[in-house]
Amino acid sequence: MENCLFCRLVAGKIPATQVYADDETFAFKDINPVAPGHILLIPRRHMENMLDLDDATALAMHRALKNIVAAEKLEKGFRVVANTGEHGGQTVFHLHWHILFGRHMGWPPG
Ligand code: 5GP
Ligand code: ZN
Repeated sequence: MENCLFCRLVAGKIPATQVYADDETFAFKDINPVAPGHILLIPRRHMENMLDLDDATALAMHRALKNIVAAEKLEKGFRVVANTGEHGGQTVFHLHWHILFGRHMGWPPG
């Protein structure tokens, strides 16, 4: 997927501040953070959104999430967001989980 921003990023063609990596996933700091901590966790393999997520990759994403939460010491809590499609506010169409932390999160979101 040479036109996909996050495929290019995971291939090292676009610089990113890596925070975690394993064989199936990659995580890096969001370029435009909306919280004191704002990490994006993505599968290395291109898939558009949550509905394309297969069981094996879902497991890998969840394992990566737990590793990041432990490494970042997020015992006070965090929020995971997967904006999906037009009404979900998705702007990059390679699945990513926003991991937000470092402040109290309001609810409901705008
Ligand atoms: P979405 O709006 O699709 O849920 O989230 C896309 C996210 O990607 C946004 O939070 C945006 O700041 C982030 N983003 C867009 N381009 C780049 C980039 O080149 N590098 C990084 N690190 N983040 C990006
Ligand atoms: Zn992609």
